[in-house]
Amino acid sequence: MKKLIIGNWKMNPQSKKEAEIIFKGIVSTAQKQKNADVVICPPYPFLSIFQKTKFSKISIGAQDVSVEQSGPYTGEVSTKMLTSVGVSYVIVGHSERRAMGDTNQIVNKKIINALKAKIIPILCIGERHRDSSGEYLKFIKHQLHECLANIPKPQVSKIIIAYEPIWAIGEKAQREATPEEFTEIKIFIRKIIFDIYNSKLAHNVMVLYGGSVHPENSAEFLVDADGLLVGRDSLIPKKFDLIIKSVK
Ligand code: PEP
Repeated sequence: MKKLIIGNWKMNPQSKKEAEIIFKGIVSTAQKQKNADVVICPPYPFLSIFQKTKFSKISIGAQDVSVEQSGPYTGEVSTKMLTSVGVSYVIVGHSERRAMGDTNQIVNKKIINALKAKIIPILCIGERHRDSSGEYLKFIKHQLHECLANIPKPQVSKIIIAYEPIWAIGEKAQREATPEEFTEIKIFIRKIIFDIYNSKLAHNVMVLYGGSVHPENSAEFLVDADGLLVGRDSLIPKKFDLIIKSVK
């Protein structure tokens, strides 16, 4: 299976011109990488710039989507708007959105909306703290159960899961996660999905790693991860190119 390398630009860069420069800096490496597909998730205003991308290896993703379809919801963006500008992936449940109020129930509605619109949801899960008594495993199990509620069996393998421990994300990360920690969680996630659906389909679900991925650690995570969700280093073409190239 091809790996998936996703860049989440968050609320960056500050202009269309800069967005185009970063995108151009990534294109040629992404096009040459035969063993991976690349998804760029820019802020909403920049989505349509890359709409007519002829670059088959790069897809465009949004960083969020509304639970509503249309109407009086100031500031919201619907799945139809996203598909109309060529978006094929959407991040849901990112810890930064959860910190702004997204509950598992809201994330669940967003997944259902995305699937209906044939947009691939990238479901972010992950604990805030790692404790020695294994509470974090219960937390992840709970997130999965609530976020996947009422999602029928045939749909589940269309969802991409990104394990993003909050303690390992961003400039304020307590420390980096280890590839071994990721492997443990990947096995756990697949088991939870297997238990929910009682189906081998669980093994088809892609499980990605995200949290302080950089060119020096990407290859190690990619041994077991089906792909990577990259924040800061996806805005620096030289670094993101090296991460893309680290797919063997
Ligand atoms: C993220 O927030 O999804 C993320 C992975 O960020 P970073 O790579 O900057 O830790």
